Amino acid sequence: MPVLIDIFMCRTENYGYLVHDLETRKTAAIDAPDAGAIKSALNNRGWTLTDIIITHHHRDHVEGLPVLKADFDVTVTGPRAEAEKILGLDVMVGDNDTVMLGGTTFIVIATPGHTLGQIALYNSADGHVFTADALFSMGCGRMLEGKPGPMWEGLKHLRALPDHTLMYCGHEYSADNARFALSVDPRNAALNIRAAEVNRMRAQGQFTIPVSMGMEKATNPFLRADRPELARAMGLEPDVDPSIVFAALRAAKDTFT
Ligand SMILES: [Zn+2]
Repeated sequence: MPVLIDIFMCRTENYGYLVHDLETRKTAAIDAPDAGAIKSALNNRGWTLTDIIITHHHRDHVEGLPVLKADFDVTVTGPRAEAEKILGLDVMVGDNDTVMLGGTTFIVIATPGHTLGQIALYNSADGHVFTADALFSMGCGRMLEGKPGPMWEGLKHLRALPDHTLMYCGHEYSADNARFALSVDPRNAALNIRAAEVNRMRAQGQFTIPVSMGMEKATNPFLRADRPELARAMGLEPDVDPSIVFAALRAAKDTFT
């Protein structure tokens, strides 16, 4: 049986997500950016929180954990590699493990780079992937802990997901990401169309998430680091290792204004 997903804003630009398994009525929060926002989303839906799945240790993804643990009988699952940095984990997982929410299965995909232990969660039956700060629409997280090679490999695992998969990321950064993407890939027709759509949606106060992985593969420069036009945009030879192009793109984005 399928799941319902509730999307809401937390803090300033964090997305909050609740995943509700219709058969068992179990409900998971993906990350805990803001206990108050999560509790009001639960109230609006009439759902009870049973699970929290944490993607990485950053404060804007875990700050709501203590209050939610105190208020609900929840199981908290998170990355084994960051267990020492995340207080209150009950279950620890790593790459290729599964996380169950009632009858719904999530596959854990390791996406190191933004943080070393960050995980993404893929529900193949419903076609959903929660990427947190590893992959944004038309962008990716800052490489705060990792190295370009493993980060690129992690993003390639996400890129291998079917085109129809809907991507739910950790922040609403699409408009800024589109500006950078257009600066390095200006002749990409799909990107130009998506950027215009994002600007229209943001002007109307709409969320730009979820977005299909097919759209991301066509528009996100960080998933296109093995394309010759992106190497050329970075002043590199087209046959250079894609992880070098990826590193150049990430560095260029860090200083892009
Ligand atoms: Zn983060």
